[in-house]
Amino acid sequence: MNGIEVTQVTAVLALGSIALFVVGLKRLSKVRTAREGNALLAAGMLLAVIITLIEVGRVDYRWIVTGLVVGSAFGILIVVRAQATKMPQIVARFNGFGGASSALVALSLFWGRVVEGDGGQTTAAVLGGAAAATLVLSVLIGAITFSGSVFAELKLAGTVSGSPSIPVRGPLMGLLALGGLALGAVGTFAIDDDTVAAALVLGLFAAALLIGIILVVPIGGADMPVVISLLNSLSGLAAAATGFALTNNLLIMAGTIVGAAGLILTQIMCKAMNRSLLNVLVGGYGGDGGGAPEDQEYGHVVSGDAEEAAMVLEAAESVVIVPGYGLAVARAQHAVHEVAKALTGRGVQVRFGIHPVAGRMPGHMNVVLAEAEVPYEQLVEMDQINPDFSQTDVVIVVGANDVVNPAASSDPTGPIGGMPILEVGRARRVFVIKRSLSPGYAGIKNELFEREHTVMLFGDAKEVLDALATELADN
Ligand code: NDP
Repeated sequence: MNGIEVTQVTAVLALGSIALFVVGLKRLSKVRTAREGNALLAAGMLLAVIITLIEVGRVDYRWIVTGLVVGSAFGILIVVRAQATKMPQIVARFNGFGGASSALVALSLFWGRVVEGDGGQTTAAVLGGAAAATLVLSVLIGAITFSGSVFAELKLAGTVSGSPSIPVRGPLMGLLALGGLALGAVGTFAIDDDTVAAALVLGLFAAALLIGIILVVPIGGADMPVVISLLNSLSGLAAAATGFALTNNLLIMAGTIVGAAGLILTQIMCKAMNRSLLNVLVGGYGGDGGGAPEDQEYGHVVSGDAEEAAMVLEAAESVVIVPGYGLAVARAQHAVHEVAKALTGRGVQVRFGIHPVAGRMPGHMNVVLAEAEVPYEQLVEMDQINPDFSQTDVVIVVGANDVVNPAASSDPTGPIGGMPILEVGRARRVFVIKRSLSPGYAGIKNELFEREHTVMLFGDAKEVLDALATELADN
């Protein structure tokens, strides 16, 4: 193939790859088609790698094969060891890897073509002004994404706790961003001495790493999903910027799609938590599941057992099950499906009320329930199910806490103030399955537990649901 043919072939293949990305993303938006969407996205990525290899042409394939083997081994290891409850940390880590790759590719372009290339010329003279400018952006955004994601993962894992306020944080980040950009601009546009230019570009890299840390550390745990989604968007933008620096159209398009998708998800999450993005980034909201002891004192709490609950459920006509993080922890998805099947078998209308931020990642409950093959038709989103609670006989809350906490409206300035919740308190009877009166992720008391028509079924979600299924089967 001569040069023109190669370009034509890769252009057509690139269109195919982009089409796979777009269709794959669209399919991801519905639970029913999500698996297929994931497969299409993986195929699109494989095609993109093949196109890049064809375009690059003569390369030392030993390095590429080594990279593929090492990267795939790490990927397989991470996924095989992954627990469903740790998924947000893994997403944060992958975002970080994305950001780091973009910054490192941009840095290696700078190193290979400028520092080790023909000496005595600025980066802008060697690569062109636009490529030099986007190289600077790629290093900046990629490094922010990397350090921000590392700290998001550490916060989610509990290794870094609290939401310490950093004095003059906004101006400090602004100063670091402007200072970093100035270093990058001078290093790539004005300096032709390789050593000085390299030092300035590395200064930009260091400033960007600091921005990522300062950005994430003061943000409260309950807002972390929004931050991860934003970092996902940034990893896409960093990739797009690297695409400009490399004049690689495919990377520009794929990066832009990731950037836009991440931004849309960020907006959806902000809406679900009733926060503006600025409000989230200002930080300080949400705890780490602790809560001050005086906030956690409960008055009269009624507790029951599976036998009593089964009797109430047998007389019900409509039941809504609200799953939360504890369902995933207890791996109780199969047990909850058994209870749902036993009830539908008795002619009870059973639905699952899904809160957009239930669990620890967007779509967590959908994924967990899909694993147990709960029919998609039974999964109803918050906005659709909320008006129905006042006509619901029984709600079973399984390992959920914050997403059903009335403090969202009764304490507007609290950690979850203003967050839309599943209004389960309006149902005739509420059973709450959890092990204790401990708080959820936001670390606050839940008044639902002491309401008159609420009955606590204390215990591990799987054990309580198994007992409930046995009771329903026996009667
Ligand atoms: P919560 O974290 O509010 O509550 C979970 C409850 O599950 C706990 O109170 C705990 O109580 C109970 N639990 C834990 N283990 C078990 C078990 N084995 N059996 C029974 N119960 C158990 O979860 P929600 O889903 O209600 O709310 C999600 C929270 O996480 C929100 O604040 C959200 O903002 C935040 N978040 C969401 C993310 C997302 O993208 N979805 C990502 C990160 C955070 P006990 O210890 O008494 O059993």
